[in-house]
Amino acid sequence: MLSGRSRDSGGMAEVRSMGVVGGGQMGSGIAQLAAVHGVDVWLHDTDAEALTRATKSISTSVQRFVSKGQLSQEVATGALQRLRCTSNLEELCSADVIIEAIVESEDVKKKLFSELDKLAKGSAILASNTSSISITRLALATSRPRQVIGMHFMNPPPIMKLVEIVRGADTSEETFNLTKALAERFGKTVICSQDYSGFIVNRILMPMINEAFFTLYTGVATKEDIDTGMKLGTNHPMGPLELADFIGLDVCLSIMKVLHAGLGDSKYVPCPLLQQYVDAGRLGRKRGIGVYNYR
Ligand code: NAD
Repeated sequence: MLSGRSRDSGGMAEVRSMGVVGGGQMGSGIAQLAAVHGVDVWLHDTDAEALTRATKSISTSVQRFVSKGQLSQEVATGALQRLRCTSNLEELCSADVIIEAIVESEDVKKKLFSELDKLAKGSAILASNTSSISITRLALATSRPRQVIGMHFMNPPPIMKLVEIVRGADTSEETFNLTKALAERFGKTVICSQDYSGFIVNRILMPMINEAFFTLYTGVATKEDIDTGMKLGTNHPMGPLELADFIGLDVCLSIMKVLHAGLGDSKYVPCPLLQQYVDAGRLGRKRGIGVYNYR
């Protein structure tokens, strides 16, 4: 299947194995999606409890697809057999594609890319699920910038139809084509973005969420009225504050900081209320409390 040529993914006919780094909301969903589509998956997280939660949530989610008649029991069982969890990053060394979905921090991601570059086989593509961080800069932490790409899934990955592909300055055509083919094999529609902070989706979405926080912060309206206003007034399925809780307030704050630093406009300054909730550990649904209380 693979050419065996080092530092070139051009010989890869089809992706058979994937490594997923980070077993939180996004990583577990990406691992599930890949396994359901016949890819052998290693899911890695430094936190053993995160892997336990991921295993449980993947198994529950796959069974939900079966009970809705959207997946056969045979495919579901096969998917769970193809998925292995590990706290040892080196287990991912034979993967055709490794995608990271760890914390939205450039420094932490760069360190990981540097480690992945050393352990992954020469032909492997290294992808990032980052919401906003420069792919070009992440690629520079490796010796294979041609094989580094942004593959930005939406939350939750098994359900949302979009993948935003981001080419770094050096991303090769082969890497782009393989990544696009993989996303399409997963049943996704692909959009392509140049490598500027926030890409397409979050450049537009996050300022709206941040503005909803300012609307709450300045006492214009209650959280319920802000969300109802945007749901019934603009036909959004979720209000911006509910959506922020779903995404994770820490993720929203990190993205606003990247937009502000990368685009240099004061309109991207994060709302102090968003900062305060994150400081208080109110990170949204994943912590049981954010703008709303889920406990
Ligand atoms: P999360 O907090 O749910 O999960 C992150 C996981 O990464 C945690 O389990 C953590 O233990 C693990 N981790 C952190 N550092 C690690 C390391 N060095 N090695 C291995 N594991 C590590 O976060 P999430 O919401 O899944 O977001 C992950 C990434 O996906 C971020 O880059 C985020 O911007 C992006 N993203 C998030 C959303 C969303 O709606 N939450 C949507 C699209 C993209």
